[in-house]
Amino acid sequence: MIRAENVSKRVQVADSELSILKEANLTIESGESVAIIGPSGSGKSTLLGLLAGLDEPSSGDIWLGGEHLNGLNEDGRAALRARLVGFVFQSFQLLPGLTALENVMMPLELRGDRKAAQVSREYLEKVGLSHRLDHYPRQLSGGEQQRVALARAFAPQPGILFADEPTGNLDAATGASVNDLLFSLNKESTTTLVLVTHEPILAQRCERRITLEAGAIVADSLEPSIA
Ligand code: ADP
Ligand code: MG
Repeated sequence: MIRAENVSKRVQVADSELSILKEANLTIESGESVAIIGPSGSGKSTLLGLLAGLDEPSSGDIWLGGEHLNGLNEDGRAALRARLVGFVFQSFQLLPGLTALENVMMPLELRGDRKAAQVSREYLEKVGLSHRLDHYPRQLSGGEQQRVALARAFAPQPGILFADEPTGNLDAATGASVNDLLFSLNKESTTTLVLVTHEPILAQRCERRITLEAGAIVADSLEPSIA
């Protein structure tokens, strides 16, 4: 489903080049749930962005859903993402001018789904927001906004869901309920899950943990960690 070979990312900072991801190698099979863990600044978001085709590596090869990303331009990658990938970000990333329902409908409409409204209502019901369909993001709490984002991500039934610290901006209790929803929607839909988190408890809920340190993969384990 996802393959990375010797993937590196270098960025120019002032006069020097900074290596923020170093020769990453991994394969993620369809249906797997994988946590990407590691300290802040270790390259987790960088790796996620590369695997998801949001960003291009400085060197190395990436395949997503069988397509070689290196051979696609930005439009090609956007089309592949629209077909295959759902996202949940720490900052929710809802469109402020659209209601909850319209936010969820957006990706379905982009792919021409005639049942966009019906499917979106179903998913907003799954996340417990049936009574908030016509509310705008600013009228919703952080936890509610992230539940809308979960509905938006899962409604198109993506082959892969990428989540980057989805509860990083939420208090512990709200975060716990968002995590429960994330894992239950994931289980129900058998989506491949790639989850960036620095919360060990969350990482334990995934089948596999990939650990980054200073831009390098230092562990890739199916065993529950002791941490
Ligand atoms: P994480 O998600 O693990 O906290 P990131 O992938 O966001 O880490 O970033 C890894 C490192 O690379 C950090 O030190 C960050 O400051 C740096 N970095 C990320 N993107 C850029 C960029 N475009 N330019 C310069 N430095 C960057
Ligand atoms: Mg990050």
